Amino acid sequence: MSGSEISQQLFERARAVSPGGVNSPVRAFRAVGGTPRFMREGSGSTLTDVDGNQYVDLVASWGPMLLGHAHPEVIEAVREAATRGTSFGTPSEPEVALAEEIVSRTPVDLVRMVSSGTEATMSAIRLARGWTGRDLVVKFAGCYHGHVDALLVEAGSGVVTFGLPGTPGIPSASTSQTLVLPYNDREAVAAAFAEHGSQIACVITEAAPGNMGAVPPLPGFNAFLAQTCREHGALFVSDEVMTGFRVSRSGHWGLDGAQEGWAPDLMTFGKVMGGGFPAAAFGGREEIMRQLAPEGPVYQAGTLSGNPVATTAGLTTLRLATDDVYAHLDSLAATIQSLAAKALDAAGVPHVVQSAGNLFSVFLGRTEPVVSFSDAQDQSPAAYKAFFHAMLDHGVYLPPSAFEAWFVSDALDGDALETIEQALAPAARAAAQ
Ligand code: PLP
Repeated sequence: MSGSEISQQLFERARAVSPGGVNSPVRAFRAVGGTPRFMREGSGSTLTDVDGNQYVDLVASWGPMLLGHAHPEVIEAVREAATRGTSFGTPSEPEVALAEEIVSRTPVDLVRMVSSGTEATMSAIRLARGWTGRDLVVKFAGCYHGHVDALLVEAGSGVVTFGLPGTPGIPSASTSQTLVLPYNDREAVAAAFAEHGSQIACVITEAAPGNMGAVPPLPGFNAFLAQTCREHGALFVSDEVMTGFRVSRSGHWGLDGAQEGWAPDLMTFGKVMGGGFPAAAFGGREEIMRQLAPEGPVYQAGTLSGNPVATTAGLTTLRLATDDVYAHLDSLAATIQSLAAKALDAAGVPHVVQSAGNLFSVFLGRTEPVVSFSDAQDQSPAAYKAFFHAMLDHGVYLPPSAFEAWFVSDALDGDALETIEQALAPAARAAAQ
């Protein structure tokens, strides 16, 4: 490692002109301490920072970089698209082709493009409210759906909690229509519907939460949500911004709904479908989606929505994401999980390694599976901090927070796995202290 002087200098410059020196809070390393690394370059599974340090990347830009960084075919397609113009404010062919690809991989009939996952979930709940004529939204503690006012609600304890804003700046009126329930808790869902069923517009859930660490739905939980919504005339909104086109070619729905024979009413997508550019979408059943302007009364719009360069990057990424790629990602995820467990066992660190498809997390300082946000909070942030920094010092870039999933990319090869294995032993020892 060549130190982090230039990152430090850049961080100081950044702090002088941006709050916290970053444009998205978790990048600032607050949870783990130290100086965030400013990256200069990404190639395949390797990130290179401004000081010249190289890291095997297990964050993948928080999900989008399914194929690794600067994939030659994606870059060529982007270059070619950009030379034809970067934004027209008119419909263009790549957005149609990307929508067709999404429709072919998922149960949605129609898709509307937006520029971020936040916009996708915000628009989906507006549409759910517009369609049902109801106001209440059910979400689960520990699920993150972007920084939408109504969904940025702190985890509540108890069976049913009317949401309190998780941050200043959100009027309590915006979250007073949000019910927060404990994740994976069917009884809490049944109780909420028994009391408020006729007022509930939708249940929104991460298809498999990755934002409290990877916490898979208990078997049948998503099917139960879909069924409960149907019985009460509410919509089931499955947020696949993180899992979509990542954990299978059809996202998490490909692992449960497609097998079990149910489909969400609305779905949200982002990350992978933008191929590293700002592109996201929501979609769903035709009669609901046709309520959107200009066909219907529910307004939704965006200057850069369906941007030709972003949709070209996403389309090229999805076309390259074949079944072989998903099989490789699954096998990489399994290998890294077992390497991590082995190293932590050897160092005597209590841990749980668990996955939702090829998303996985390592919870340190506990031995019981994590099924809810309160479980996820019962881990050792201090151990993770030590573990994270040792991995970083040994050339592996992990999420700078214990409440995140690790992301694999198709570009991880034998050398990268070797680097990860070498780093895990000292990192596990650091976590033991
Ligand atoms: N939904 C989920 C499940 C996410 O993981 C995220 C971001 O991490 C979002 C929504 C928000 O997406 P964005 O950061 O693109 O606004």
